[in-house]
Amino acid sequence: MDFPINLNTFEQFLGRDSTSEEFEAWLASKRVPIENPANSEEVIVSQVGWELYEKFFKNYTLKQWKKDPRDLDASVCGRIPIRTNRDDRYLREDFQALPREGYHRMFERMLAASPGVDLILDTDYRDIIGKVKHDHLIVTGPIDEYFDYCFGPLPYRSLRFENQSFGPEQLQERELIAGKPGYWQPAMQVNYPNDEEYTRIVEIKHATGQETPSTTIVREYPDDYAPGKEAYYPIPTPETAALYRQYAEKGADLPNVSFVGRLATYRYYNMDQVVGMALAEFEKLRERYEGRKV
Ligand code: UDP
Repeated sequence: MDFPINLNTFEQFLGRDSTSEEFEAWLASKRVPIENPANSEEVIVSQVGWELYEKFFKNYTLKQWKKDPRDLDASVCGRIPIRTNRDDRYLREDFQALPREGYHRMFERMLAASPGVDLILDTDYRDIIGKVKHDHLIVTGPIDEYFDYCFGPLPYRSLRFENQSFGPEQLQERELIAGKPGYWQPAMQVNYPNDEEYTRIVEIKHATGQETPSTTIVREYPDDYAPGKEAYYPIPTPETAALYRQYAEKGADLPNVSFVGRLATYRYYNMDQVVGMALAEFEKLRERYEGRKV
């Protein structure tokens, strides 16, 4: 079924054609009236009612976060748009795009254009911070780690990615499902809210438009975070917000340190929001240090 929920999903659900008006009326009869949804269960049932919530959101969220949607901020499931037209895009922004040659190439080019930048990889910043002269420090790693977990660790969720590639012969039997040759599935992202251990399968070729008879799919398995793993997600709950606030206050006392990005501000931000945050911080610092060589 189509996702995010839209008119196509409703038609698949009914097994016949429908209209936006009919879907709107149906939703109005199913919605649970909640004025200010306080958590991820409320934000969804107040828009689509219990049946669609149970089918699309409840188990996916339990699998992804190991938490009941009731215990997660409304912003988590509230990220997902619900539409009564046929727009099935995940995001609400009018303009949506990926860097033409990917993020890796984008950063490579930014670095090539910035001769004053030294890039040091695979190094704990604590090992070099004393040796790198600086007036200002921009931290993009986890803020709890930066402060040596002095208030206790902030929780994160991680992911495990499993890749699988298929050649043209193997893809032949998928052609009916994918709808075209050279692809494994019909859309870039197919979600598995209920029955599998993974939450989704992504076939990025749909977005990149690469012309090749082979393809690669990636299964995403939610994973408990532990040091050494990638901290992909902050976990937005009232408790973690309170803990983060303690770290943020400590950070605010350091005028020469900026905290930027998903982990340093413990916010479930998308890439465009993170870029916006980085540009805003850059403007702030430019004003402050204008005319000084930093
Ligand atoms: N979600 C869900 N069912 C879905 C897709 C998303 O319940 O089919 C919920 C789930 O809690 C998920 C959240 O909405 O973590 C945000 O989804 P999104 O796809 O934006 O997550 P991300 O891409 O950041 O992993």
